[in-house]
This record gives sequence, structure tokens and C-alpha cells, in this order.
Amino acid sequence: MLYYKFSVFLKSRYGSRVYKLPVNIPVTCPNRDGTLGTGGCTFCGEEGAGFECLPNSKTVKEQIGQNAQYIGKNYNSEKFIAYFQNYSNTYLPLQDFKKYIDEACVEGVVAIYISTRPDCINEAYLDFLRHIRDVRKVDIVLEVGLQTVNYRTLEFINRGHSLAEFIDAAIRIRNYGLDICAHYILDFPTDEFIDVVEGAKILSALGINQVKCHSLYILKDTKLGEMYEKGEIHPVAKDEYIERVIKFIEYLDPQIVIQRLLGRAPADRSLFCNWNTSWWKLRDMIEDKMEREGRYQGRLFKYLNGSSCSLPR
Ligand code: SF4
Repeated sequence: MLYYKFSVFLKSRYGSRVYKLPVNIPVTCPNRDGTLGTGGCTFCGEEGAGFECLPNSKTVKEQIGQNAQYIGKNYNSEKFIAYFQNYSNTYLPLQDFKKYIDEACVEGVVAIYISTRPDCINEAYLDFLRHIRDVRKVDIVLEVGLQTVNYRTLEFINRGHSLAEFIDAAIRIRNYGLDICAHYILDFPTDEFIDVVEGAKILSALGINQVKCHSLYILKDTKLGEMYEKGEIHPVAKDEYIERVIKFIEYLDPQIVIQRLLGRAPADRSLFCNWNTSWWKLRDMIEDKMEREGRYQGRLFKYLNGSSCSLPR
């Protein structure tokens, strides 16, 4: 196996195909509403990550029902993940959060995935989520944006948190016995190979369960878009992205599930996305290169638990 694919994990965990259904609730983000800043991360568009979402005027139950009907019919699936996708889904009063999560616990939903920022998670939310997992028998995964371990890049992209907040959130989530998926952008032009490798090592050392790799897309009407149009920022080359992903995978603990290898954005909203190549072609190029060169997930995962000790581990 070249890497631990999400589809393989889902099949072994749930015994059949499982699809993620986006759920959209009325939340924002402290990096947008003025708490930390107003502009958001430089790459983030007005609609956050909600390109595929139904409007949040529909209830959580309605959104899941409508999406499940469509996906279930077209992909022959009866098991689903409710994915709270857009903005920071723990950035709302606990009572409201509880109501939305409760609503998602409907027949067919085997897991709830919740996207958020590392500085928007505290133990009151984790305590509730652990309770829901145990009582409603659904898996809980917190999808937490890190994007890069290079704290200078984090500052450059106006992230509003540094590496420390992510480490803190990851430790707390794992202490509560819940799962965590890190979102990671591998090709910031301000990052180098050393950052990519360190990213894989830190995620592995923290015992992260899943990772979602993204390529950097540049949206219209964003700060990054403005910089791109002025020629102040240049995306890395396609071949370099491919090499960065493979290097990242090689250093990653083989037990970490890889949800995806690339990001995606609608063509009409982006100035630059995946070198005008379809995501599946790029995925195939990455996999072909790994195959040809005998590279696989965890090939270089040899650095934890006192790797230089003289005594055998
Ligand atoms: S934390 Fe997420 S939602 Fe908030 S500005 Fe950054 S990318 Fe956008």
C-alpha cells in the first residue's frame, strides 16, 4: 500500500462505503469577525470552505436528509459522515453547538466530523463530544486547521494562531480519546522542504489520526489573490508539489489516514488552482511516482521514541 487511503480506512471501520455530507451552520470565525482580525487568513474566501454546502437556512436534519438522499441514490450508500465544514464550527455558544450536533445524530450517520481552528476548542466542547460519542454511538473527528508548522508562514498568512495552539488542541483532543484530522497546505511558497518534513514529523509525534493535504489554491477577492495579481507571490511548480507530498507521506506515521492529497476550488472563483490539472490526474501522478521510485507512507518514519538510543526499542 502506497499510503493509508481514507476509503480503505472507512471500509475497514464501517464495513461499507461511507460518504461525507457537508453540513452548514451559521457560524463565523474569530479571524473574520474582529475578535482576532477582520480579513481572515490570506487564502480564505468570503464563503470559507463551503463551496458544496446547502444554505444554512435549512436545518441540520434537512441538510443531511437532502444530501443523503442524493448521495445514497447516486452512490449506493447507506452510511454517512455529517461534516460540519464551513468556518470554525466550535466558535459558537456551547448550547447552540450541542443542539446542532444532536440534530446530526440521525439514522445512517456513523460519524460526525467537525472543522475548526485550534484556538476554538476547549474542554467543555470536548467533554460534550465525548459524551455524544459514547451515548449516541457515533465517531467524532475534529478537523483542525494547522496549514503549516512554519510559524513564520502562519504569521505571513495572517492565521491568527501559531504552532503552539495546534499542539495544545491536539494534546487535549487526544486526552479526551477523540480523533483529530489536521488540515495541511504543503506548498506555501514561503515554506521549504524542511518545513514539509517537520510538519509530517510533528503530526506523527502528536499522534494525529488523519491528515488532509491541500495544494494552495488562490481565490479571487482574497488578500492572496491580490498579491498573486501584483506578482508578489508565485505558486510552487507542479513537480515540486508532487515531490513535497511524497516527502511528507514518507515521513508520516503509516497509521495516519490520509483523507486527500490535494485541495479543490471552483474554477470560476479561483485565479490559480492545481496548475489547471484535474485533481485525479495529479493524484495519479503522485501515486505513479511513488510506485516507480519505491516510496511509501512511513518509509522514513524512524525518528520517534529515542531513535538514537543505543539500546533496542
Ligand atoms: S481560520 Fe478558516 S474560516 Fe477562519 S479565516 Fe482562516 S481559513 Fe477562513
